[in-house]
Amino acid sequence: MDRSYAVEIVYRGIFQKTLAKHISRGLVLAAAKEGKTGISFGRYGDSPERNGIPAKNFAIIAPDEETLEESMSQYEPKRVDVTVSVDDTLCKGVESWAWYGLQPINRLLNPGGKLVVTSMLGFDDLFKMIHTKDVPYELAIVRGIPSFSGLWVYKDDHTDVRILGTIARLVPEMLSLKAVEAAILEEWKDELKMLSARKAYERVESVVVPPGEGNAETPYEFTLPGWKEMPEGVTIQSIQMGGAIVDPETGTLGGYRPAVNPYFKKFSTRTMRPVVDFDTCIKCTLCWLQCPDSCFDVTPDGLYDARMESCCGCGVCEAVCPVDNCVVMVNEAEFTDNASQWEMWKADKAGYKAWVAEKIQHRPERSHGFRLRGLYQEQIKAMAAVGITKSGEEKVGGEDTTEASAGGS
Ligand code: SF4
Ligand code: SF4
Repeated sequence: MDRSYAVEIVYRGIFQKTLAKHISRGLVLAAAKEGKTGISFGRYGDSPERNGIPAKNFAIIAPDEETLEESMSQYEPKRVDVTVSVDDTLCKGVESWAWYGLQPINRLLNPGGKLVVTSMLGFDDLFKMIHTKDVPYELAIVRGIPSFSGLWVYKDDHTDVRILGTIARLVPEMLSLKAVEAAILEEWKDELKMLSARKAYERVESVVVPPGEGNAETPYEFTLPGWKEMPEGVTIQSIQMGGAIVDPETGTLGGYRPAVNPYFKKFSTRTMRPVVDFDTCIKCTLCWLQCPDSCFDVTPDGLYDARMESCCGCGVCEAVCPVDNCVVMVNEAEFTDNASQWEMWKADKAGYKAWVAEKIQHRPERSHGFRLRGLYQEQIKAMAAVGITKSGEEKVGGEDTTEASAGGS
């Protein structure tokens, strides 16, 4: 190895914080096993982390201290050799703090770089989400349900070491499998985790992605004013007034659509979205009142339409809705746009009913939020089966490997 390598791990804030740290730290420990050096760090601007908001960890691996120092002259890598996306819905693009707009998941990848995604989806489904790039790169899938946990508990389902094994296969000049295995044994003292890394190494599924393949949408962007363009003094813009909506069926003007921050679209935070059955809605107002992001437009016919550009997918509306299956959270990967559900329903009510019936079959596998020690036991067995046997048939260790993790890190 005659240069430094940069790896970014893109993850969901809080829910995947410990997972991301395990991966970036594991890379550096493995590098040390073969006489290299490295550093692992989180992106400065992601702190304080918030639930689900896309965040990043980095690992820089170098042949010697001098090369490492040279790479660190820039705090955050502008180009990377490997991007790891530990949740497949991050493939739609990431937006952290309304800095630049939506950033494609493959944006920082060097030509020929590797994009590693944890997913149960196929390549074609991922290409519906991943934006096109004008240089070729390689896309690899680590089979598994994206691993989510809480702030205080880490779900040790081997996703961390399976990604390390995959990277060893994709970028052998940076890390060998032997080094990864030695680091796992030293860090976790767990032969089963080492076996998981080896199996992932052997079973890498990848394709070379030619330029232009993928989601052709232009990600939204904006330019923040430079310091010379800012007005004097402190200016806090007030919230603009909202306005009424036209009913496309009757032409009536009514209801209310609140104004929102045009720059901070929270949809890249979302791993699931609410699907509303307007035929069963009793107009109780609870979803509108309880939504923490004021996402609901009040429609002229008295219904409540969740604005998908603003929805962060928290699931509160599903939790408060008193009607069975009237609001159902559905896996975000099932959608390719942020279109208004109410407008779809207005245009074709029978077609919308069939659409709802199909979508609600895809309730998300992800689980996050507050979890008690031991609650992940069943999920870990299932995940280990996918990871180790692929078919899930071979019996693997059945112990609860859930561990408490102070501070989620
Ligand atoms: S999931 Fe529901 S409650 Fe949560 S932000 Fe979206 S619309 Fe609002
Ligand atoms: S909570 Fe459910 S029933 Fe009540 S207004 Fe919202 S969607 Fe309709």
